[in-house]
Amino acid sequence: MPKSCGFHRMEERRVVIILVAKTSNQKLFYLTNQHSRQELHKIRTHEQFFCPTCQASVHLKIGEINIPHFAHKALSSCDQFSEPESSLHLHGKLLLHNFFKKLNHTVDLEKYLSGIRQRTDVFVNERYAIEFQCSPIPVSQLFQRSDGYKRLNVHPVWIKGLKEPLREEIGLVHLQAYEVAMFQQADHFSYLLLFHPPNNRFYYQSNLFYVSGNRWVGKTKSLQANQQIFPFALPNPLTRNEFKLVIGIFQNLKRQYIRSQLYAGRRIGNLFCRLCYELQVEVASVPAFFGIPLLGGDCMKEPAIIWQLQIAQAYEKGVGLETLVASGQVVLTHPEKFSQALEVMTDYLTFYTSIKNSEKTNANLLDNVYDIYCKTVRKLRK
Ligand SMILES: [Zn+2]
Repeated sequence: MPKSCGFHRMEERRVVIILVAKTSNQKLFYLTNQHSRQELHKIRTHEQFFCPTCQASVHLKIGEINIPHFAHKALSSCDQFSEPESSLHLHGKLLLHNFFKKLNHTVDLEKYLSGIRQRTDVFVNERYAIEFQCSPIPVSQLFQRSDGYKRLNVHPVWIKGLKEPLREEIGLVHLQAYEVAMFQQADHFSYLLLFHPPNNRFYYQSNLFYVSGNRWVGKTKSLQANQQIFPFALPNPLTRNEFKLVIGIFQNLKRQYIRSQLYAGRRIGNLFCRLCYELQVEVASVPAFFGIPLLGGDCMKEPAIIWQLQIAQAYEKGVGLETLVASGQVVLTHPEKFSQALEVMTDYLTFYTSIKNSEKTNANLLDNVYDIYCKTVRKLRK
């Protein structure tokens, strides 16, 4: 008995649901709020519906809890074109559709692009494919979908679906690999765009400074849909006070990291301890100018304190940055990131050489690091 129940649930979850269907006279029928549930019940008695993609017959479902939607009657060839959908996904697609419509853009809901065999959630001005992603997706699949759109000169825009609103603050942000892959790369000032259907509100996670693993420090800010524009508004750079918070969080994380390294056992084989020893830096009091937040630091695998100590060590030994990266000592997340890494490391080296011999206080450290940040933002946004 439990076995068959489980099987039934599995099958149900795989049924593909959609918001647009064809009627028997080949007209598209949209479930975009223009009919009441009562009207839909009436229409259902005399109309038949078909999937615009696979032509299979679909049911019009009008429950009290979920948004009215069409469901394929059985497993269909549509499975290969789309993810199983949740009501959060349906709700979000509808609201995004209405958002673009209100701003007088040309919008197609669930447009199927037969050339690349992809069904996009919301297709805007025949140039933007809005992908509203409510569940984790393999990174390779995400890139494959983006590449498909690019082949048609369509710009993919990934928006992450939110069940719960986010806290608006400067703080620690945990990002899975697929969320990093969803970053908007518009003018390289990367940010993650999110949407919370229950409140019809966009969220931005921006000004992201990589810490380690899936941890970043960044700014979370929201924007009500009726204040949003398209192309979507870009996040603002941080003010000096906001950046001060970032520095503070980084310094706390650095202290945690140092403690974890000191308790890590064999200090002799430990990279952090070895770097400190070679630079004649006391492990318990590493100067504040090691481990500073820099935009683009995510192309390095190790925490900022490590690669920044490595740069100092290379400099003291007279080793150039290119040699340092080429030697493999500074580990990159991807070989393609070589030039980005060099740029970030050069910025750090300039900072390091200017600060290490001067009698600068911590207040000056903030100004100096904020200055690098502002220059980077200007460079990325020009
Ligand atoms: Zn279908």
